[in-house]
Amino acid sequence: MSECIFCKIVRREIPADIVYEDEISLAFRDINPQAPTHILVIPKEHIPSLVDADPVKHEALLGHLLLVARRVADLEGITDSGFRIVINNGKDAGQAVDHLHVHVLGGREMGWPPG
Ligand code: AMP
Repeated sequence: MSECIFCKIVRREIPADIVYEDEISLAFRDINPQAPTHILVIPKEHIPSLVDADPVKHEALLGHLLLVARRVADLEGITDSGFRIVINNGKDAGQAVDHLHVHVLGGREMGWPPG
């Protein structure tokens, strides 16, 4: 059984504030929010990071995650004001959890470029 913290959330072995779920994805609130809305959208399948996604096998899954992110933004009421989607990949980007996740951030104005 995987020791991955997000796999444990998928299996309900540790708690999370889940806002959306379907057969292939799960969305829950980030434990350390960086904006009034900060939600993580993950595949239920353990894929360590974006570069580990298979160009053929995971093509539909990656599209699905983005569409779930959009849906989550709708559920949170931040579609009109705007929101940001972030995928950190690897050390320099600050990826801390090795299970592919899409950050959905909104509810405040954001700067650019990101830090
Ligand atoms: P990243 O730096 O892109 O790997 O982002 C990992 C994110 O996961 C961070 O924003 C953390 O706050 C968040 N996180 C870590 N553990 C948990 C948890 N148990 N529940 C919810 N969010 C978490």
